[in-house]
Amino acid sequence: MNPTTTDCCAIPGQKLLSVEQGRERILQAVHAVTAIEHLHLRAALGRILATPVVSTIDVPPFANSAMDGYAVRSQDCTDVVQADLSVVGSSFAGAPFAGEITAGQCIRIMTGAVMPDGADTVIMQERVEPNADRITFVTKDAVAGRHVRYAGEDTRCGDTVLEPGIKLGATETSLLASVGVSEVSVTRRLRIAFFSTGDELVSIGTALAAGQIYDSNRYALHGMLAKPTIECYDLGVIPDQRAAVREAFQQSAEIADLILTSGGVSVGEADYVTETLGELGEINFWRMAMKPGKPLAFGQLDNAVFFGLPGNPVSAMVTFYQFVLPAIRKMSGETQRDPLLVPARCAVDLKKAPGRMEFQRGILQREKDGSLSVSTTGMQGSHLLTSMSRANCFIHLPEESAGARVGDWVSVQPFLDLH
Ligand code: AMP
Ligand code: MG
Repeated sequence: MNPTTTDCCAIPGQKLLSVEQGRERILQAVHAVTAIEHLHLRAALGRILATPVVSTIDVPPFANSAMDGYAVRSQDCTDVVQADLSVVGSSFAGAPFAGEITAGQCIRIMTGAVMPDGADTVIMQERVEPNADRITFVTKDAVAGRHVRYAGEDTRCGDTVLEPGIKLGATETSLLASVGVSEVSVTRRLRIAFFSTGDELVSIGTALAAGQIYDSNRYALHGMLAKPTIECYDLGVIPDQRAAVREAFQQSAEIADLILTSGGVSVGEADYVTETLGELGEINFWRMAMKPGKPLAFGQLDNAVFFGLPGNPVSAMVTFYQFVLPAIRKMSGETQRDPLLVPARCAVDLKKAPGRMEFQRGILQREKDGSLSVSTTGMQGSHLLTSMSRANCFIHLPEESAGARVGDWVSVQPFLDLH
């Protein structure tokens, strides 16, 4: 990594680093943790699978009925109009019929029950006329294979059911349960330490004195980091003093794979984050071609990856979602995916000057005709947290864009994509 002073994107007046370039550099520099844990399925929910899972059984394990009805032999149903069969037993889910059915016979069968030997089709009970121990039905209902679920139709023995890198959600854990897997290998949790820097910051629970504000960024970070793949360490508020910042970094580097700070990465007089880290580790300071969130420090401190996020609350969140989240996904061993961007029509004019990519906070909604439209949450200052709280998406406006007019198409990233 280049030291601060040699990176062109760090120098005021020089070119800015594009969001895409920044993300590429970051993703090249970070690596997945290699340590693995073996967990029971329940404990593995939300974690990232580390090794492939291969099924050792067929699912379903046996041919069974998809309906409540009667299992019959289609070759017995060749009469022009009606079949008339003798009911010789029953097969319930978990209680199969012992034996084989032969010419002129059928059995009562329930959904999920084993298809008896000899039978190849199921007649729905609604299509049957029962009469003592016999049934009659229209022969054209007896199509071979109808309402039968075959062994291995869902998963075959030997199939890879899940690949490494997948996040284990409810669907994945139930799929694993269906093949009888009770334990899986997942990557270990990422250890992430974070703190806020700023002499003006006060933790909630204390009254504000003159010039002070509440530290909200640690709550944004705590919320954005609350995931099964992450173990968080909140180091509190660190004052704008060289020694204090230095100590906080050393302490974080001892426990964390990833260190996040907010504030102190501008070029103000009390901004010690970049400077101190330049001394202790390898630090890049970039001026990003984005709004909000121009300054970003990124680097390495001992074995930990470091991100110094800007202090303004919206800048900190936008920067987290655009850069830190992809890095966390990679470090957790999760398969990378591109952001989910959906096209929507502007319901209002969007103001923007060319030069920096903007992440305006938007409200995406479905119009009566089914199309998607987006409006902004109003004032877009990077200090206005309400511009985030009213939003349900980011409107991505590219560097060269000079704004958009009502009816123009824009790309929108729903907040649903940011988990
Ligand atoms: P800085 O990046 O330290 O220059 O801070 C930029 C702006 O963000 C200033 O107005 C700070 O007061 C504000 N700020 C910095 N850290 C926080 C925080 N943790 N919570 C809320 N606002 C903050
Ligand atoms: Mg500050």
